[in-house]
Amino acid sequence: MINIVLFGPPGAGKGTQAERLVKKYNLFHLSTGDVFRYNIKNETELGKLAKSFMDKGQLVPDEVTIKLLISEVEKHPEAEGFIFDGFPRTQPQAKALDEILSEKGTSIGMMLALDVEEEELRQRLLKRAEVSGRADDADPKVIQNRIDVYKNETAPVKEFYKAQNKYIQIDGIGSIDQITDRLFAEIDAVIR
Ligand code: ADP
Repeated sequence: MINIVLFGPPGAGKGTQAERLVKKYNLFHLSTGDVFRYNIKNETELGKLAKSFMDKGQLVPDEVTIKLLISEVEKHPEAEGFIFDGFPRTQPQAKALDEILSEKGTSIGMMLALDVEEEELRQRLLKRAEVSGRADDADPKVIQNRIDVYKNETAPVKEFYKAQNKYIQIDGIGSIDQITDRLFAEIDAVIR
């Protein structure tokens, strides 16, 4: 059993790669962005609140996001391990994640951080907008805001995992298969 934080800027390919990792390692994929979008689609109170931040490319407040994460983890006691995708995005989120996992007698095994340069991210997100229907992918201003929020608030979360010797950087440029192979190799080295 292993819990993995799949990390990286918007457009780095976290969602695509997470799908492949869950299949191979029998993990549960927990994407806070997906849970927010599900709530937006179903017009819940949480969805309305989340939308007001997401549409601008801002983070949903920690208090709300952490509560959601805890309830999602608790919904899946059968999971052999989790892939956290899009969480944690702030230091308080990282601390909260450690706490909830430690209450369950487990912990994060590794942070796999996909490294992709900014110009490539902008291009990928605009291209994704053509198929994703995501408003936050279609507007260059919102994209830039998400990239800036990543740099200022989220990237520092790497330090939290570096201090625990759990940080692994992965080159996020290449074919989807190549990047999957890089991720598999790092996970296999840790779980073996
Ligand atoms: P991407 O990685 O492409 O930005 P996500 O689906 O992970 O896509 O996130 C979309 C949006 O959802 C974010 O811009 C943010 O507004 C909100 N969100 C997702 N996860 C979090 C989180 N852990 N904390 C705060 N906001 C979040």
